[in-house]
Amino acid sequence: MKLEDSLQYFKGVGPKRAEHLAASGFQTLEDLLYHLPFRYEDRRVVSRVAELGAGRDVTLVGAISSIKLNSWGGRSRRQVLRATFVDETGHLPLVWFHQGDWIRKKLEGASSWLVHGRVEASKKGVLQIVHPELEALSSDDDAAEAARVVPVYQKPGEIPVATMRSMVERAVVECSDLAKSVLPAPVEADLSLLPLADALRQVHMPGSSIDPVQLAAFATEGHRRLILEELFALQVGVNLRRVAREAETGQALPRADRFVSGFLDALPFNATSAQLRVIDEIAEDMARPRPMNRLVQGDVGSGKTVVAFAAALQAIDAGRQVAVMAPTELLAEQHYRTMETWAVEQRVRIELLTGGLSAGRAAATRERLQAGEVDLVVGTHALLQSGTGFAALGLAVIDEQHRFGVRQRAVLKEAAADTLLLSATPIPRTMALTLYGDVDLSLLDEMPPGRKTIVTRVLRQHDVDHLFERMAAQMKEGRQCYIVYPLVKESENVDLEDASGMAEKLRAGVFRDFEVGLLHGRMKADEKNEVMRGFQRGDIKVLVATTVIEVGIDVPNAGIMVVMHADRFGLAQLHQLRGRVGRDNAQAYCCLVSDERLGRDAWERLKVMENSSDGFEIAEADLRIRGPGEYLGTKQAGVPAFRAANLARDEELLLLARDKARQWLEQDPGLSDPRSSELRKSLANRWGDSLALAEVG
Ligand code: ADP
Ligand code: MG
Repeated sequence: MKLEDSLQYFKGVGPKRAEHLAASGFQTLEDLLYHLPFRYEDRRVVSRVAELGAGRDVTLVGAISSIKLNSWGGRSRRQVLRATFVDETGHLPLVWFHQGDWIRKKLEGASSWLVHGRVEASKKGVLQIVHPELEALSSDDDAAEAARVVPVYQKPGEIPVATMRSMVERAVVECSDLAKSVLPAPVEADLSLLPLADALRQVHMPGSSIDPVQLAAFATEGHRRLILEELFALQVGVNLRRVAREAETGQALPRADRFVSGFLDALPFNATSAQLRVIDEIAEDMARPRPMNRLVQGDVGSGKTVVAFAAALQAIDAGRQVAVMAPTELLAEQHYRTMETWAVEQRVRIELLTGGLSAGRAAATRERLQAGEVDLVVGTHALLQSGTGFAALGLAVIDEQHRFGVRQRAVLKEAAADTLLLSATPIPRTMALTLYGDVDLSLLDEMPPGRKTIVTRVLRQHDVDHLFERMAAQMKEGRQCYIVYPLVKESENVDLEDASGMAEKLRAGVFRDFEVGLLHGRMKADEKNEVMRGFQRGDIKVLVATTVIEVGIDVPNAGIMVVMHADRFGLAQLHQLRGRVGRDNAQAYCCLVSDERLGRDAWERLKVMENSSDGFEIAEADLRIRGPGEYLGTKQAGVPAFRAANLARDEELLLLARDKARQWLEQDPGLSDPRSSELRKSLANRWGDSLALAEVG
């Protein structure tokens, strides 16, 4: 037997189940073996029927006294199976829908049962358990054996919980010893870790001696071992990339300090000390004879555009060209307008290149780029179009870089020697270390002075009328507002009032005295620009929009941001939206309107926004609450799929793994030591793809 063997031939799986498993990504024995429980159920405390209360997860031991199967309704037959569970203190109904026959047969097969599930009150107020888990008991010993800590696995829908559990258990019993450690022996010893096979057994089949609190926190010795092993391999990979990049030769663009201070002095404000520090970090990096690959992380409104322009001046001073790429036409135009003012003052030749330009104008711009008659070009992905040639591209600046596909970023990176990535979505530290471990980070951790904290309130739908009245009052005084909706005409979400419907209603109703603009993703580029310009000029007072406005838009006179169905957005996204207001020194407001019947967790999540205005804090909270899988955009961003580690939970272990990875690489930089051979294999097989993604930022 080998871990690479297909599951099909594994005892108890068979072709049919193997097919279901394969569809969910379980191909080999190894996949099963490393499929860790996502939670544990402590069944060691057996409750009695007489002491049950609604809402608790309980384990019961007793018998089944009656079984009744009801079915009705012609062709789409509906079935309900009711069984009565009894112990010496009382009886409790158990209920199953749509699985009657199968459960009935099972229940008839034994007289004593361990039942596990959540007690709830039926509509009539009777306590019951719906779809409990069942384990047949044949003796008292069995009861003691069954009353243990039980692992619970994520599984394909077609496979019953207990079947999944027994398949994994068999894989663990029979194959744990085949698992090969990726950790070089000295690293393993240094960390004094549990041996791999023991770790696998511990997390899958925790003995009765294990501390349930540690288990629930995935903090047992076994977990620690598996998590560290995984993170170590990844960090070795990330660091290898970094080393390779540092060995590349690039251009050295000498610092242009006088040019840059000339620009900073001409600004109507003083640069923050964070801006000065980051500008300096970038300048040093560009002056080195190797390609720069740097990410500037700064909260919304921290002033990244100034930083980017300062970097551009250094390249231009050395006779190179600079391309600034933004994800939307709106944003590209805005950057162009901002930078144009600065460029004129500094005698920099600047042009715009977007898909919205006429073919003739675009062609002329491309010609001038090719001829070296343009120093700075601001644009969208139109910059990447074949036919865009540069005379001497020295620096590529990619704004809101996570909005671009991996390919798109790679193309520009290929063409320019130095790359500067700007990210307005603060990235939690663990995520940055993983995704951008091979990228240099500059942190813009200071806001321009004088900004007032945006007053944020979570509201219910029924507060909206009152809110709109207050908005109208603000607009009478000249302020502008945004109202943002999650989506436009997404047919399955009929309950969502969509942006266009809302715009109509507002025009006819509360906001009839004001110009109401509408902006959504289905509009053509020039239609969007038209509306956006109207808003920027102040002609449009209320902008009803979908999330197309999320990115980077800068209209300082807008003072109120209303987000409808706010619970459907991620926190990081809400923070971005909120960042559209509060861009001057007047008091700004952000109202998050949630659906009427919002669960407690979702409400708590929105409350984070009321209490924090720090993008990094919010990003961490978002990651913690929603988990790495759901975290905004991470799938596209190429966060690797972990088997044991969890970026929302394992920061400490990640830092430890990073240190150990660096130490090992110092000793064995080429991974040529025989003790690195499993590590090499793992990097090639498991991490190859995700690491290639990280490479391009
Ligand atoms: P972001 O980091 O979100 O891209 P921007 O570069 O768009 O932020 O800057 C936000 C606003 O703050 C702009 O209007 C910009 O002119 C202004 N700004 C930038 N730096 C400073 C500063 N040091 N002091 C005051 N205002 C600044
Ligand atoms: Mg920006």
